[in-house]
Amino acid sequence: MKYSKIIKTQREFFNSNQTKDLGFRITQLKKFKSLLKEHETEFYKAIYSDFKKSEFDTYSSEMYFVYDEINTAIKKLPKWAKRKRNKTNMANLPASSFTVVEPLGVCLVIGTWNYPYHLSLVPLITAIAAGNTVILKPSEIPSETSTVMAKLINDNFPHEFLYVIEGSIPETTELLKERFDKIFFSGSTAIGRIVYQAAAKHLTPVTLELSGKSPAIITKDTNIKETAKRIIWAKFLNAGQTCIAPDYLLVEKAIEKELLIALKTQIEVFDYAYKNDNYVQIINARNFSRLEALIDREHLYCGGQTNAKTRFISPTILSDVNFEDPIMKDEIFGPLLPVISFTDIDVIIQEIKTRPKPLSLYIFTKNKSLRDKILHEVSFGGGAINDAVMHISNNNLAFGGVGESGMGSYHGEAGFKNFSHYKSILQKPFGFEPNFKYPPYTKKKLGWIKRILRN
Ligand code: NAD
Repeated sequence: MKYSKIIKTQREFFNSNQTKDLGFRITQLKKFKSLLKEHETEFYKAIYSDFKKSEFDTYSSEMYFVYDEINTAIKKLPKWAKRKRNKTNMANLPASSFTVVEPLGVCLVIGTWNYPYHLSLVPLITAIAAGNTVILKPSEIPSETSTVMAKLINDNFPHEFLYVIEGSIPETTELLKERFDKIFFSGSTAIGRIVYQAAAKHLTPVTLELSGKSPAIITKDTNIKETAKRIIWAKFLNAGQTCIAPDYLLVEKAIEKELLIALKTQIEVFDYAYKNDNYVQIINARNFSRLEALIDREHLYCGGQTNAKTRFISPTILSDVNFEDPIMKDEIFGPLLPVISFTDIDVIIQEIKTRPKPLSLYIFTKNKSLRDKILHEVSFGGGAINDAVMHISNNNLAFGGVGESGMGSYHGEAGFKNFSHYKSILQKPFGFEPNFKYPPYTKKKLGWIKRILRN
């Protein structure tokens, strides 16, 4: 098979035990950080030429996350990787119990296009921190970002340790035929299914960071101005091409009009326009046409300007939408924000629960019992109260989906655990031990066992 040789080389390197050494891992993480700093300008140029993403946006939503993950791993690695003591149960005494933390082996990371650095390099960093070797397959869609990552990694690290394979469906399909010790995939739910099936053939563990429609619920007692500001920022960041962007709003009827005005005002304040760098392009013509077709002029509240040549779609709000409208069928993944009003929170909760579990959910309310009711009744990957998207930036919180929005999580220690195996060990001393468990069995021994185990 096409990639067997590089995988074999990585497996041999992994089996040499070099990556198990914490000093080796920390050196590689430090090297990665200084290379990134050295080449940061090339990274900014590449992403700007792919979809006009500015240095501000790229630093705050991509590079920062990579540096943060490196810094956290360097600081916390000795604690995370340490042997852990466990209690020993009565049946095994005298003995001691502990857990050895070990890397999994050769890992495949498959990235996606919307945050090409963040979603390729954060899992790669985490896999290095946990002591693995890594093959990275970035998304081919922002081709300049794929090339710049391949160059940085392939020119500066031994290929038996880290290697980037650029390509699209044929290359990924070939790669997925191979046996890995872990596959970490970010992307759509449809491709997640393909990855999961391929992994099943080798019983390879997978983490799937997938997609879904993430609602934001806004109740009448919210702070309307602050809510509008936070929602508009979260939705139109990256022109809505964010897996955890609020996909649609569920607004209590009593404040619908006031909120719509505040949302529109906020769009004007933020000054999104093709001519400035507050706003990115739609990634490609295919997504541009898909999104343009979703703008139902009958529901247009504001925005709706499009330009196929520059792949620009202005921030657009659609009002009086209901759950049966076409825009409510699939994840929008673009700068269109449908608003649905409600009077009964229980109806809304049921509507959400009849659909696939969202990747994120946001609640804007001052009503704590309502907040707790939603948190108690609705299953979703993660989210925020009175904010949106920002939960991803706290690497003390595990990030991941549930159900169709994904399986497994990462960021900080959650990521380290995801790329590690926890090996459980029971250690017995020689010498004294009660003889009850050994044959020949007698009534007297059974009596002792029952007395000791007390069940
Ligand atoms: P995608 O699933 O089409 O592509 C992701 C990766 O899979 C790419 O590297 C691509 O080359 C590869 N791929 C595509 N088709 C394949 C096939 N048939 N066989 C094997 N590999 C294949 O996703 P996309 O359209 O690039 O990204 C958008 C989606 O990703 C959205 O749905 C978004 O919500 C989701 N996403 C999720 C997260 C998360 O963390 N949960 C983050 C970003 C994006």
